[in-house]
Amino acid sequence: MNNIPYGRQHITEEDIAAVTKVLKSDFLTQGPSIEEFEKKFAEYIGVKYAIAVANGTAALHLCTMALGVKEGDKVLTTPITFAASANCVKYCGGDVDFSDIDSKSYLLDLNKIEDKLKKSPDKYKGIIPVDFAGAAVNLESLKYIADKYNLWIIEDACHAPGGFFTDSKGIQQNCGNGNFADLAIFSFHPVKHIATGEGGMITTNRKDLYEKILLLRTHGITKNPSQMSKVDGGWYYEMTELGYNYRLSDIQAALGVSQLSRAGLGLARRKEIASEYERAFKNLNLITPINDKGHAYHLYVIQIEDRKGLYDYLRTKNIFCQVHYIPVHTMPYYQSLGWKKGAMPIAENYYEKCLSIPMYPTLTKEEQQRVIDAVTEYVK
Ligand SMILES: *Cc1c(COP(=O)(O)O)cnc(C)c1O
Repeated sequence: MNNIPYGRQHITEEDIAAVTKVLKSDFLTQGPSIEEFEKKFAEYIGVKYAIAVANGTAALHLCTMALGVKEGDKVLTTPITFAASANCVKYCGGDVDFSDIDSKSYLLDLNKIEDKLKKSPDKYKGIIPVDFAGAAVNLESLKYIADKYNLWIIEDACHAPGGFFTDSKGIQQNCGNGNFADLAIFSFHPVKHIATGEGGMITTNRKDLYEKILLLRTHGITKNPSQMSKVDGGWYYEMTELGYNYRLSDIQAALGVSQLSRAGLGLARRKEIASEYERAFKNLNLITPINDKGHAYHLYVIQIEDRKGLYDYLRTKNIFCQVHYIPVHTMPYYQSLGWKKGAMPIAENYYEKCLSIPMYPTLTKEEQQRVIDAVTEYVK
């Protein structure tokens, strides 16, 4: 019996040929593949600007830097996410405030957000919602609240390229399209929809932030005469801000372009797998995800009382599930900053029961049946 992981990348001969082509070209980094990837990704999402970066964490850091997060600034996020969604606030010296999730969608509970903001309207600078598992946050509703309290929004859309919600006018709003959030970020880690090994993308409709992030991505160095104090010659450049080297390489970007051309197919296959799970688990004593046509199904999370029992049982069948996530505020680092277990009861209760079962486009029908049979055997 082969091993079935909870998620995995899909690399084709076309992907390999695309990478090989770059390796034989003049540019391994800072070449033409970067711009091509950015342009095509922006088209896929339906956003004005896209900036390719080294990984999703670098994307988050560039966003908090560009928005000017500094010591004393408070930023809200969810405890049910990967640690990086919160850490990017700490990188800039800001304070993270976690807010509990909704028990059905597992996304930030907007009522709880508003309660916090009402209590201390001047304390907060921004909010980082996460399209957890691929379920789109309703950013129209969130922006309504954010505007009232003058907050920026960074959408962590790592789980949701191709995901969307439908706004109050009935219009489809793609995750990361920048119509409600100031900035959005994606990751191309191999478990995500599009894989470049390491890699990330920032999307926005705001020209000011786009230009600032381009500068910060490459050390804060510019060769653009309109941004420099003088021009000494063809070699001349100026470092005008303290930036980083957060670039993606052309090798990775070429892989990204090739992967992106199959993103629609991969997403369709994920949706098929999800509806098959839903059908198979209908009569079992399990909680399955909310069925939503805009769900991008990065993860398929079920909830079960005896989660550890099921996790261990599936391992004996070579099915390797995962838990997303251990609530970030319970991590020793955040506990050292004063957070305590019990602070986010809904997130913590969710954590006790959640299990991400295999979900990736190349999961075969037979493999999915093996997962379904094993889960069904255990639950019955
Ligand atoms: C993967 C992920 C990140 C970080 O992306 P990396 O590319 O691994 O740095 C951030 N947020 C969420 C929600 C993620 O799933």
